[in-house]
Amino acid sequence: MKNSQREGLLLALDFGGTKLAAATAVLGENQLLDQTQAAAPQDSNAGTDMDIVARLAHGLLEMAKLPLVAVGVSFGGPVDAGQGLVRLSHHTQGWENVPLREMLEDRHGVPVAVDNDANVAALGEFRFGAGQGCGSLMYITVSTGVGGGWILDGKPWRGEGGMAGEIGHVVVDPQGPVCPCGKRGCVERLASGPFIAQRAREWLQTEPRRGSILRQLAIDEAESTREHELALDQRLAGGYEITAEMVSRAADLGDDLAWQALEVSARALGRAIGNAANLVDPRRFVLGGGVTKAGERWWATVRRVARETALPEVELEIIPAALGDDAPLWGAMALAQDLGPPPQRQE
Ligand SMILES: [Zn+2]
Repeated sequence: MKNSQREGLLLALDFGGTKLAAATAVLGENQLLDQTQAAAPQDSNAGTDMDIVARLAHGLLEMAKLPLVAVGVSFGGPVDAGQGLVRLSHHTQGWENVPLREMLEDRHGVPVAVDNDANVAALGEFRFGAGQGCGSLMYITVSTGVGGGWILDGKPWRGEGGMAGEIGHVVVDPQGPVCPCGKRGCVERLASGPFIAQRAREWLQTEPRRGSILRQLAIDEAESTREHELALDQRLAGGYEITAEMVSRAADLGDDLAWQALEVSARALGRAIGNAANLVDPRRFVLGGGVTKAGERWWATVRRVARETALPEVELEIIPAALGDDAPLWGAMALAQDLGPPPQRQE
């Protein structure tokens, strides 16, 4: 009887834009027992996402043969965490005002906590990753978008309306280009992967004498694909299929135009981090997402500009995330841990 509470199982679920994942952990243990994932189908909707995640979870629960005690959920879109309500998904149809917590509580018969992926990833890094040992942090993901989540004094800070951490739409250049949100010069418009690529592509077209390394990478890439003729057409028209990853590689090889496209990203992010440090003073900033693989020069620029922007008295460190794409899953496990009964002390 004494050990009965230790023998419980926690379930973590991750509804991401491109992948769906589930993991289990034994109550009281800071490691995953098992994890599994599936790609989100191209034409998926809320119903198919739910079915796939249910299947993943069912498989793990069957294998573990322990009673489930709590479920934590990361959702890739705006969530009312207090109500466990998904507001919508930017990737998938049918998620408008879905009471996900209630639905999962009905299915599993245990407490469920739901939050958006940036908040959950922040919690994951805080408890299991690059944030271990600190009291507060801001987690920032720089990928196809830019998102963030706060941990303050050991707890997620979601804001009164659940909108805290939206560093992607902090304005760092009021005269800058128009962001999808309608404002000018947001961090996301300057720092995210698709806009790094777009900027480099535009410069290649307007500055035909620069960017020869990037140009060559784009041509090689296009010619290695099946659409050889299309590649040729693009080259004749002066258009190139450019990705942020290609821009990073070209910058690494010494392409000046490519580096300048990246530098805009690093400077915008550094500015916003310096401002956030001045406002909240969390000391540690943990950065994840594809763009953070852009190389040491990108990191050095983020750190330098953040340092220049923050007051000299404000201490800050900017470090890479440790959990990669699994941060939301680990964070969902942390949510489940917080719902489950506290681990019993072993006598
Ligand atoms: Zn914006």
